[in-house]
Amino acid sequence: MSCEGCEPQIVDYNSDTIFSWCTNCGNYAITAATKRALVAEGVTPKDAMLVYDIGCNGNGSDKIKGYRFHGLHGRALPFACGTALGNKNLTVIGSAGDGAVMSEGIGHLVHAIRNNYNLTFLIHNNANYALTKGQASATTKEHIPMNSSPDGVTADPMNIMSFVLALKPSFAARSFSGDVKHMTSMIRSGIQHNGFSVIEILQSCPSYNKATSHEWYQERVFNANEQEDYDISNLENARSIAEDLEEHVALGILYKDESKIPFSKRLKQRESYNTALVDEVKPFDVTKLFNKYR
Ligand code: SF4
Repeated sequence: MSCEGCEPQIVDYNSDTIFSWCTNCGNYAITAATKRALVAEGVTPKDAMLVYDIGCNGNGSDKIKGYRFHGLHGRALPFACGTALGNKNLTVIGSAGDGAVMSEGIGHLVHAIRNNYNLTFLIHNNANYALTKGQASATTKEHIPMNSSPDGVTADPMNIMSFVLALKPSFAARSFSGDVKHMTSMIRSGIQHNGFSVIEILQSCPSYNKATSHEWYQERVFNANEQEDYDISNLENARSIAEDLEEHVALGILYKDESKIPFSKRLKQRESYNTALVDEVKPFDVTKLFNKYR
């Protein structure tokens, strides 16, 4: 560990727990990018709250240091939002997969965007339920054989960014697990943004997602923010560029609206408060209550 009061280092976030992901899984790179972004933003582990969902992403919850919470399937967002509301001094990063977010937890995504809670949310989109061995999810492409549908999925696939953009988010970005530098930059921008930052990460899952491999994405992704005339405040343009998930797959901050008021500023009742809720409850002894549920 680096010293108390020193700038954080990557080593501060390193855990001794042995990684259990498959070889070449995109989760290794996502974890590396998360650590790099936190360090680059000067966030120490004691100021970071990392919330994980059930899924292969969730198996990363003990592979990194910081405060961590491993929630129920599809429910990472309520825990992350609650933490961000309770302690505004923490940097909150939630992680969940496409299965959890676009099915069980889809309502939470809708309302987190509407309320503009201040946190960064990483959607690990590997287009399947990987932890349970390759069942189709809402983002699996049509007609791709999966373990739950050997003759191919018949439902239309969902495009996460198109869905998110339809809800007028304050920050929407897309990245790719094959590019640690780009993911780091997107997560840093998400942390800096005052509001709900959604980052879809197109993630390779070499074990179960054969349709959109690392190489498949690598041949198709491009950085929209490198286009000279790309305007991140143009919602219609973002919607249009986000649609293509076949030929030219856009990465980058696709849309940002700084004028959307974060949740913390929406509550008139708390306008005069500078304290965090977690500090305000300190005078109350809740030990008895906790002990009741031990
Ligand atoms: Fe990664 Fe897929 Fe293996 Fe899960 S099943 S650890 S997502 S490669």
